[in-house]
Amino acid sequence: EVAADSPLLQHLNPEQRAAVTLPNEHALILAGAGSGKTRVLTTRIAWLLATGQIGPGNVLAVTFTNKAAKEMMTRLQAMLPVNVRGMWIGTFHGLCNRFLRAHYKLAALPQSFQILDTQDQLSAIKRLMKQHNVDEERFPAKETQWYIAGAKEEGLRPNMMETRTEEDRRKAEIYQLYEEQCQREGVVDFAELMLRSYEVLRDIDPIREHYRRRFHHILIDEFQDTNKLQYAWIKMFAGSGNSVFAVGDDDQSIYAFRGARVGNMADFVREFDVRHQIKLEQNYRSFSNILDSANALIAHNKTRLGKNLRTDQGPGEPVRVYEAPTDMAEAQWMVEEIRQLVRDGTPRHEVAVLYRSNAQSRVIETSLFNAAVPYRVYGGLRFFERAEIKHALSYLRLLENPHDDTSFLRVVNFPARGIGARSVEQLQDAARAASCSLHDAVHATTGKAGANLAAFVQKIDAMRAETEGLTLREIIEVMLQRSGLVDHYKAERDGGDRIENLEELVNAAESFVTQEGFGRDAVALPVDELGTTLRQSPASQGLDPSLPEINEPSPDYVPPDAETGETLSPLAAFLTHAALESGDNQAQAGQDAVQLMTVHAAKGLEFDCVFVTGLEEGLFPSERSLADYDGLEEERRLMYVAITRARQRLYLSYSQTRLLHGQTRYNVKSRFFDELPEAALKWLTPKNQNFGGSAFGFGMGYPSSRPSGYSGGYGKGDTFASPPVPQQKATPDHGLRPGMQVFHAKFGEGTVLTLEGSGMDARAQINFPRHGQKWLALSVAKLTPVP
Ligand code: ATP
Ligand code: MG
Repeated sequence: EVAADSPLLQHLNPEQRAAVTLPNEHALILAGAGSGKTRVLTTRIAWLLATGQIGPGNVLAVTFTNKAAKEMMTRLQAMLPVNVRGMWIGTFHGLCNRFLRAHYKLAALPQSFQILDTQDQLSAIKRLMKQHNVDEERFPAKETQWYIAGAKEEGLRPNMMETRTEEDRRKAEIYQLYEEQCQREGVVDFAELMLRSYEVLRDIDPIREHYRRRFHHILIDEFQDTNKLQYAWIKMFAGSGNSVFAVGDDDQSIYAFRGARVGNMADFVREFDVRHQIKLEQNYRSFSNILDSANALIAHNKTRLGKNLRTDQGPGEPVRVYEAPTDMAEAQWMVEEIRQLVRDGTPRHEVAVLYRSNAQSRVIETSLFNAAVPYRVYGGLRFFERAEIKHALSYLRLLENPHDDTSFLRVVNFPARGIGARSVEQLQDAARAASCSLHDAVHATTGKAGANLAAFVQKIDAMRAETEGLTLREIIEVMLQRSGLVDHYKAERDGGDRIENLEELVNAAESFVTQEGFGRDAVALPVDELGTTLRQSPASQGLDPSLPEINEPSPDYVPPDAETGETLSPLAAFLTHAALESGDNQAQAGQDAVQLMTVHAAKGLEFDCVFVTGLEEGLFPSERSLADYDGLEEERRLMYVAITRARQRLYLSYSQTRLLHGQTRYNVKSRFFDELPEAALKWLTPKNQNFGGSAFGFGMGYPSSRPSGYSGGYGKGDTFASPPVPQQKATPDHGLRPGMQVFHAKFGEGTVLTLEGSGMDARAQINFPRHGQKWLALSVAKLTPVP
């Protein structure tokens, strides 16, 4: 008999204890946020091990994110002296990878098979379509990619595809060719990891039987977010002698857009004849003001299985609501609030900043960075490390320096322009032989490959000519179009986010120039006793500007030449900033840092203090979700997830205007505010009734004070052609204008091409016939107008 008095069970309520100690039979634990589902799942593993019912090899436990898997192992390790690293605890993809590595022969894969990411997959498809003369007009590569991924997620192979029309037949044929190519090259894409391991289990009886005997217990966290193939995969492990223990919350189902099926819960109960269904109703995470808010919000959803959630913890602090005039101000306020929390003793890692879309993180990152608050971004790369941003930066680097071979290689065939690996290798050989850059070696290449390479170099050179004299923002915009990056991502299934990020790059450049000043953007400005950041130039504060230490310039700040005033171009300064920020800004591993992530990535986690930002109609709930009712319900579940991450203190904020995707949006606060209990809230800013969103949809409740021209609705109509945002542009005090003739002591006479920045950071690009184009810092360079 098993020990019912195990110390592991002491910190559980009766329902939790019942769940942990269920016999080896199928069970569903359906319960709301913070009710201890994950604790129950983890404790069950520990209890089964501790009571000697099973060994570490008998458990298969699946979660959705790497962070959650790590968390589970940490919790387990804390309960038991067991080597968790050897246990089968992980994400679906991680465990499938492990399975295929163990059975690569049966899966007909080479031992060292490589995993294709979405990018690689697309270029593989393009290569293949070219080779087989598939008409790209009729079968765009992107669509082919969606078709293949969708098929695999449904568990369908080429021979199982619909072939009623000629087009269907052709698509299935391409799918077939793609599979053969992957097989030849020994690569698998993400969906293939899942499908291939499923098929091995399905088709090879001894393997399936082996694992069914091996895994006495199969435990799945966040079951509400499994898709069809994942559910089928789980079923493969379930035999007569073992049990599936599924844990989930239908109110937290947030991946329907990717094919997750809440219906898997009902199917599971039916197909597995589940006898044990346990509900947990006690929330241990949050104070009641937070929990009441979550409960009131989610009550607005119609499609629910129905659960209750209560807490004994008392009301706690009110939920704080903040309205900011701009996204910058919102971020600024938040940073101040975080600093106060940290001063009051909250560890930084107990502070989470959540947002709906990745593109929102940049403004927040900049504010934290400027305030020297360490932070970490989860569930996504840091902004400047994202692939699309790196591609864009590579093009910009080539404009600045055509001999930058790393950038050259990164984009020579991206977007694909028919330059294969062999041509690149030949080019590299030629460059090595002539000891010159790839750019300079191109003229020595011949044939079709040579022509394509030459066309690439011409494209870059033409772009450089075209962008001469343009502002940094304009340069980036031209580059995004001419490089083909925008078109490329537009055509991609998941390209929307990438386009948004590219637009954010434009924003980043814009604020780099207008708000921060060249090269001083990343300066962690010291703060005086009153907490005011020294934002003005050192001179205006009576400080010696020749002593850069006063302002602690960032490593990427290059002071202008003291004699001539020559300085980095805005583009070069921006590129340096981007390079350094992506490196040094990253909080060191183990350093106590504020946690930044999307709401999706925060699923299952908890923090003492949580900020949910950007609560605006069209952003959260997102614009796309508003088209249909299911979409809105999914957004509400997402908001429920966000609120329920907080233990002690919850902040909800929104901004009247937001610079997003390259345009200023005028926002109405999220309808979710109307669904929260007023008694639980505390408005830090006066509650602005006029600005309130309408629960009845758009076109109602807009204050008449709205600037005329507001077209209502969201989408392209939510922005003004020329937004009346308060621009911080100071009037130029140098009196220069483009086209003006000026004289410089060293470079002689020249023509002003461009002017950027203001005050101490004002710069001019000047064309000196004898010295070429120069960027000069006007606070240093002595220029006299030539009449
Ligand atoms: P989510 O739906 O967000 O994933 P969950 O249901 O998985 O939440 P847990 O993360 O397991 O909830 O638990 C929430 C918090 O409550 C954790 O800090 C956990 O340690 C604590 N907790 C759970 N059960 C108890 C209990 N019986 N007594 C004290 N604390 C508990
Ligand atoms: Mg959980």
